[in-house]
Amino acid sequence: MLMSEKQACMLPACDRTTYSRKLCRGCYCAAQRRIKAGRYTWAELVKWGLAGDTKPRIHNPMSIALEKKAESAE
Ligand SMILES: [Zn+2]
Repeated sequence: MLMSEKQACMLPACDRTTYSRKLCRGCYCAAQRRIKAGRYTWAELVKWGLAGDTKPRIHNPMSIALEKKAESAE
């Protein structure tokens, strides 16, 4: 197994371990805050290369519900 396969935040300026959507917890929360405020959507961030288009690793029902709500909001 390769040691270099460590999952790091996809933002070039950030090398913290990923939390969700290929982002570290700090970047993920910063993005999610703006998405919840209705300023951006996850789809936009993915398109801009600022977030991974992956299923959230979080399993909290409220977090998942809010994420789906944010994704469907345009
Ligand atoms: Zn980060």
